[in-house]
Amino acid sequence: MNEFENFGLHEHVLRAVKDAGFKEPSPIQRDIIPVILSGRDVVGQAQTGTGKTAAFSLPALSMINTAQKGVQILVITPTRELATQISDEMYSFGRYRNIHTVTVYGGSSYSRQLKLIEQGANVVVATPGRLLDLLKSNKLYGFEPKIVILDEADEMLDMGFLDDIEAIFARIPKERQTMLLSATMPEPIKALAKRILNNPAFVSVTPQNATTNTDIEQQYYIIEEYERDDAIIRLLETLDPQKSIIFCRTKKEVDRLGTKLIASGFITKTLHGDMEQPQREEVIKSFRNGDIDTLVATDVAARGLNVKEITHVFNYHMPFDPESYVHRIGRTARAGQKGTAITLLTPIEYHSLQRIAKTVGTKLTQKQIPTLFEMKANNVKKLAQNILSANIDTTAAQIVNELEKELDLAQIAYKAISLLIGKADTKGPNSIGVDSKTFENYIKKERAKDDDKRRGGGRFRNKSRSSGKERGRNERSGESKKSFGGKKGR
Ligand code: AMP
Repeated sequence: MNEFENFGLHEHVLRAVKDAGFKEPSPIQRDIIPVILSGRDVVGQAQTGTGKTAAFSLPALSMINTAQKGVQILVITPTRELATQISDEMYSFGRYRNIHTVTVYGGSSYSRQLKLIEQGANVVVATPGRLLDLLKSNKLYGFEPKIVILDEADEMLDMGFLDDIEAIFARIPKERQTMLLSATMPEPIKALAKRILNNPAFVSVTPQNATTNTDIEQQYYIIEEYERDDAIIRLLETLDPQKSIIFCRTKKEVDRLGTKLIASGFITKTLHGDMEQPQREEVIKSFRNGDIDTLVATDVAARGLNVKEITHVFNYHMPFDPESYVHRIGRTARAGQKGTAITLLTPIEYHSLQRIAKTVGTKLTQKQIPTLFEMKANNVKKLAQNILSANIDTTAAQIVNELEKELDLAQIAYKAISLLIGKADTKGPNSIGVDSKTFENYIKKERAKDDDKRRGGGRFRNKSRSSGKERGRNERSGESKKSFGGKKGR
């Protein structure tokens, strides 16, 4: 018997779970579903990719009273993409119960969204800004959701939505069951949870999710600042991802890299917050259905993006904080698949990556970008394999017959293969990245500088302009320490 059947979910919801092909509940589903069905408020610490949408949707949709009019479930989520995704998922889980779902977000018509809600929506999935506008306009007559889900609360905080969230909760009935989901639990979120939830159960699946998800192989490559483009291109050529996302820090960088990748022959599109909503949707659609295989994006635009076949996530630049690292890499290895997360960093950034790795409790492996020489050798191998496994085209036979009038067979083969080599040839500098020896030296120097600072050598040196030798002597005799210690209260 399917484990989902033991929860006491509505039979029509179970039918939709079967349609979705879910064989067994994910850890968060196992933990959260019974608590929600018992009617209790819940704080769930979980990231995208853990099955959290179904974890709150399945019980909530089971609890709806379809005989009753009006909106019964409200989901608040930070981005339009996420709202659409959740809405689609809730629609499919609720369709046998005839549950109507409406998505409410900025950038599309107010009146249409209002009309759809009035026509009998049971579920509203909304972004905070537009929802608050609607609530303030007093046009949402009788809006009394019984179940309210606040999704990706930490992201709301980062995007500056916390005031809007407070204002929304001040405008909806207190008689409700509330769920707060967040990948991380910074103080302001804990404080918010205290204000909007009533004696909540706490469920956390952090150890099993993206941060330590063994399905995501996490790697880093140490490069020089100017090598980022070459590194990405070489890695895309070597790894040949089925689908990949490349994260950049700014919209400008997204546009520039996107243009470069297209010029280099990759089937690429870009995604960032300056693009109009229909354009963004179009890009996500073409990524989802495989018309493009490389997406260059900013964090916000690709937030919560749920495309199953993403095999590789690239951090063109290091993310700013551990949260965005976790969110970014969580785009791969979804729904039980494997994935690789790759971060490009310069030696100076090494310590920041170590900090992130420590915070999220993850292990990253250092890798070297293949040289042009290795790539060419690999291309030769691949080409030989391809020739061995190729089917012979009738036109090829005709051409060989024609050529044999002037060349012998070996010459024909050499010339034909030369043409193919030209096509498969890799370009770019021979070696990309900082070699391990240079990097080790860099780290040693950094460590020495740190030790020096700790011992007070830094100041001493500035003052006395002593040579390395003298400095060593001074430190050993403890003089430098004294001179530092004399200036307390630094
Ligand atoms: P989420 O964490 O909600 O973004 O879900 C990540 C992906 O996992 C979605 O594509 C879901 O359809 C899928 N998923 C959720 N629950 C299960 C499950 N129990 N079995 C298999 N796939 C699931």
